[in-house]
This record gives sequence, structure tokens and C-alpha cells, in this order.
Amino acid sequence: MSFNLGNQAAAARVSERFTLKQARVVRKASGYFVRLSFEAEVDIPAVMPHGHPLGIDVGLQYLLSTSNGEQVKRPRFFNPLHRKLKLLQRRLKKKQRGSANRLQLNQRIARVHQRLGDARKDWHFKLAHHLCNSAGMIFVEDLDFRIMAKGMLGKHTLDAGFGQFVNQTLPWVCFKRDVYYAKVDARGTSQECPDCGTQVRKDLSVRLHQYLECGSTKPRDIAAAQVISTRGQRGIENACGDGKRGGWGHSA
Ligand SMILES: [Zn+2]
Repeated sequence: MSFNLGNQAAAARVSERFTLKQARVVRKASGYFVRLSFEAEVDIPAVMPHGHPLGIDVGLQYLLSTSNGEQVKRPRFFNPLHRKLKLLQRRLKKKQRGSANRLQLNQRIARVHQRLGDARKDWHFKLAHHLCNSAGMIFVEDLDFRIMAKGMLGKHTLDAGFGQFVNQTLPWVCFKRDVYYAKVDARGTSQECPDCGTQVRKDLSVRLHQYLECGSTKPRDIAAAQVISTRGQRGIENACGDGKRGGWGHSA
């Protein structure tokens, strides 16, 4: 058994013994699992800002857009599983309560749910690693996904699991990959020109950022991601003050 506990600096120090803190039996649709938690006395240094900055905008048309110009759509491979789930759930209504048939069908539904959850988690981890491949620092908007899920962005809500991606999976993978992760103020990121900082108002239907004064033209979400990246870097500069701390400025 091997443990991968964080960034490289930390890995060198993880020679101490682990102590078992907790063993939990978890029941899933496909069976019982034992979940073990270990603890070790190690000092894991926080990731310092360094390298290429990457701003990430989260949206509906594209699940995410980056300041590098990449746009990622919702994966299609979930669709067959979603369809299967709907079909089974429709079938469930016809089954008699308490019947063996109904119980069996419920178990099948639970298994599809689990497969869907596993596939989503797997995709989220791959996506997080992909983003870390091209960045030393990652900046995201500080959004409240619960509010978004209530429909503040319109009828289509974000993938329920995507808040988890931005708030848990991505920071965890960043930490493991020695990539700095920070959130920035989300206000008005789509209303600002990424190239000159001028406020350029546009409502949700306008999908292209265009500012003739400075000649900036690019997809709305990529423009927002670039604003997020700039804000993130500014936040670091402010935190570092007069630059006496140094060290983080080397670029990869
Ligand atoms: Zn501009």
C-alpha cells in the first residue's frame, strides 16, 4: 500500500509513521467498503504562488473557460447513464409497493446512481489534473454554488456536482500538484475588459466581449476568465506587499 500525501516537498518528509485514526464501514449499492483514515505528524508547507497564472470562469454554455482560451463542455458520456436512470425510475412507478420486483429495481437504480457518481468523480479528477498541467497558479471565482443551484443564473442550473469540483476536488488536486489555488471576488468579472480594465457592460445574451477602444475581441467567458486571472495575481501582489518576501515571482 502506498500513500500519496501532497506536494513533492511534503512527500520527502513523509517518512514518519502513520497511525490509524478511523475505520468506517460504508455501504454502497455495489457492496460494503471499508474506509480507513490515517494520520501522520508531518509539516506540509502551503503551496506558494509561482509560475503561469490560470483564471477559470464557470458557466452554463461551457462548464468552464480558461484565461488560456480553452473551453470545456459538459461531458456527453453521462447522457446514456442519465437516460437509463430515467427509464428505470419510470418503471418503478408501475411496481407495487413492498414487492420483490420493486426492491430489485430499487437496487438497480442505486447501482446506476453509484456508477454515475463514480464516473463524474473520475472525470472531475482528470479535469483538475489537466488544468494543473498548464498552470502554477489557479484562480476561480468565489461563487456560492448553492445560490446558483437555486436558479439565479436562469432555468439551467449548474451540474450539481460542479460546486464540489471547484470547492473540493480542484483545490485538493492543486495541493497535490504543487499548484497555488485561490478564489477571487466574483463581482462583475464579465463586465470588465480583460485587456484594459475598462467597464464594458453586457447582459447574459451577449456572448462576445468586444471593446473597440482597445481592440479587444474574444468570447465572453474567456474574457471573464482573464479578468479572474488578473484579479488573482493582483491579490497576490497585495498580499506580498513591497515584494520583500520574493520567491514566488519566478516564472515557469
Ligand atoms: Zn480593453
